[in-house]
Amino acid sequence: MEQDRSSQSRPPHVLVFPFPLQGHINSMIKLAELLAIAGFKLTFLNSHHNHERLVKFNNIAAHSERYPGFQFKTITDGLPLDHPRSGNWFLDTLEDTMELKMKESLREVLVNSSPPVDCIIGDGVLSFALDVAKELGIPIIFFRTSSPRCFWVSYSIPDIIQAGELPINGTEDMDRLVTTVPGMETYLRCRDLPTFCRKLDLEDSIFMKLVVKTTRKSLQADALILNTAEELDGPILSQIRTKCPRVYAVGPLHAQLNTRLNAKHGESYDHFSNTLWEVDKSCICWLNKQPNRSVIYVSFGSITSTSREQLVELCYGLLNSKTKFLLVVRPNSVIGKDGEGEDVVMELTEKSKDRGYIVNWAPQEEVLNHPAFGGFFTHNGWNSTLESFVAGVPMICWPYFADQHVNSRVVSEVWKIGLDMKDVCDRNILEKMVNDVMVVLRKRR
Ligand code: UDP
Repeated sequence: MEQDRSSQSRPPHVLVFPFPLQGHINSMIKLAELLAIAGFKLTFLNSHHNHERLVKFNNIAAHSERYPGFQFKTITDGLPLDHPRSGNWFLDTLEDTMELKMKESLREVLVNSSPPVDCIIGDGVLSFALDVAKELGIPIIFFRTSSPRCFWVSYSIPDIIQAGELPINGTEDMDRLVTTVPGMETYLRCRDLPTFCRKLDLEDSIFMKLVVKTTRKSLQADALILNTAEELDGPILSQIRTKCPRVYAVGPLHAQLNTRLNAKHGESYDHFSNTLWEVDKSCICWLNKQPNRSVIYVSFGSITSTSREQLVELCYGLLNSKTKFLLVVRPNSVIGKDGEGEDVVMELTEKSKDRGYIVNWAPQEEVLNHPAFGGFFTHNGWNSTLESFVAGVPMICWPYFADQHVNSRVVSEVWKIGLDMKDVCDRNILEKMVNDVMVVLRKRR
């Protein structure tokens, strides 16, 4: 069924549809805002659950006030509203519950939209949006929130398998270079592949098939948008363009948006936040009292969970480094029963009174641009990596899953702006890396 989409007398209407996770919402809402500034009518389609949190913790009503053509709409993510959605909840539901229910709701939103939607910008993970767009005759662009290099590795997985480079044969094989990802032959090792490549048991191979499927389907859209710049990922963008000529590198989006808004309204402009947790801004007062480049920021994003043993090593590595730190520990982010690891955090708080500050959720973009920071101990989610890069803060990389293993290799070996601690969680190594990053890399900035 085709709607009348003649849009000659009105601004084009774009529907932006993110995967229901913090890292995906962050970059896609920034893209939506940039399009609203450019004069498009914008519908941001969020899950009910995340929209409730956006309303609770942010000034989002201001989006519609500032841009008259900006509206939020919500649909189900397939789970009841009171489901905790902790850890990797989305992996179990993506292919069945989420796809089934979201697909139906997306179709309904599009059919009933007035004015009609002229173009969908869908999160590439939600590949079923392509089927709905085709059925309704609406052009669709996929947006991938992960790094272009991980996208390219995921695309290449069938070739890596066919060349016999996967599965990996035991731990001794982890430093072997992978030769079948064009453009990455000189630095991509087995240990830098996404974690689902490691042991290919049934569960991992299901996830791998899903990643390959959504990656390849992304290239069937009318175009592909990536959150990067030619200067950062040029050689890999050229590779991706051999499969899909219309690839647009529009990032880093947070920097693009800040530049636009600062130019228009001045540096003190009240930027929208779009966080799904309550931000603890008290850390800014603490940071204001710290000398320049004296603090390391420690945060592992919105999904990672650590084991209690890992948390102990990380805390003692920080303590022994004698460096000041701002640490983010999300509630229930330690694997185990509710509140697991709280005693470790309390002990760290007690022992680091004069040089540590711990929060549940930080205003990350703001803290990374604070002059007190000399380093970022990160899990290398793509948003965090770009935010650190733009702020000029060197990284210690401790990747967890998804694109993070590829990203940490790029940070340390290609961009050479960080140290990679992947596959190790040892207080002595962390202590040394913190000191190296704070002293050696800082001198080079
Ligand atoms: N973030 C934040 N405060 C925190 C931790 C993270 O605002 O205390 C933001 C961070 O700025 C980034 C996003 O949450 O934009 C996390 O996205 P990323 O891609 O780095 O990691 P993910 O959460 O998807 O693993």
